[in-house]
Amino acid sequence: MQKTNINWISKKKEGLYCNPGKFYIDPILPVEKALITHAHTDHARPNNKLVLSSKETLNLMKLRYGDNYCSSCQISNFSESININNVNIRTLPAGHILGSIQFLLEYKGYKLLISGDYKRTDDITCQAYEPSKCDTFITEATFGLPIFNHPDDKIEIKKLIKSLELNVNSTHLIGVYALGKCQRLISLLRAHGYDKTIFLHGALIKITEYYSNLGLKIGDVMNVSKKQTDELSNSLVLCPPSSLNDKWSQKFKNVIKGYVSGWMRIRQRIKQKNIELPLIISDHADWNEILSTVNQVEPKEVLVTHGREEALVDYLNNNKYKSSALNLIGFEDENE
Ligand SMILES: [Zn+2]
Repeated sequence: MQKTNINWISKKKEGLYCNPGKFYIDPILPVEKALITHAHTDHARPNNKLVLSSKETLNLMKLRYGDNYCSSCQISNFSESININNVNIRTLPAGHILGSIQFLLEYKGYKLLISGDYKRTDDITCQAYEPSKCDTFITEATFGLPIFNHPDDKIEIKKLIKSLELNVNSTHLIGVYALGKCQRLISLLRAHGYDKTIFLHGALIKITEYYSNLGLKIGDVMNVSKKQTDELSNSLVLCPPSSLNDKWSQKFKNVIKGYVSGWMRIRQRIKQKNIELPLIISDHADWNEILSTVNQVEPKEVLVTHGREEALVDYLNNNKYKSSALNLIGFEDENE
């Protein structure tokens, strides 16, 4: 690890490690004690002994991994702090997906804020990001380049609704990541008056039901396998992005393919994936959101991880912040 102000965290093959606390944050291999920021599979992996996270993240992990989700777990609430080997741990909402949290670690008076994945735009499917002053801030940089300037999600959702209205003989097949993006898209569609049945690929059902059980208004949704493909002209089908171009997708006729992702800003990705209806809706902070968050948490230094580290590190170093790349491995930017 490059020289930083903080000498009590280190990088190990399992992931980011807190030396005095003897725990890992979002480890990529099974460990004794793991603090987990959110339930996306690149951050929350199965088979850890003890997992500390939000109630929703623990439930989502159980839903995905069954009993292997951990041997024992501890729920962290925003109102309380937990002490592990003299490291004080507080959690704050990260605004990324349901249950996503940041960890504010304090040891000998020094505060380290680990944000995990986060965003600053409104999203009714999760609690809004809460900034907190710290000495060292670890930020993601998935969209850490000035070209990433996510548009208003209302504009994007209206594009989809308009396409549904104009192309009544088509099946709209829209790729969404199963946890977070799918449910956010459904709630945006409902908020903008789309009240028809939304059809879901089987891989999206369980998690969407979990959101619904917690009170998210998803309206009428149905497993698409219950319909014949010729009954699906003039309808909206959501599926995992990987299904957009696989055998499953070939059974639909008159298809308009869409993909909901921050990556839809990049023309090359749109072409690569054969997307006719790119919708730029992201669950990660864009360039300006990252910078405004850094300004709000007022750190003495910023460590940058998963994504476009170099541009952000350079920018911060030229703008009054000490910054370096943390280069944690195992975090995929495709899950978006
Ligand atoms: Zn994530």
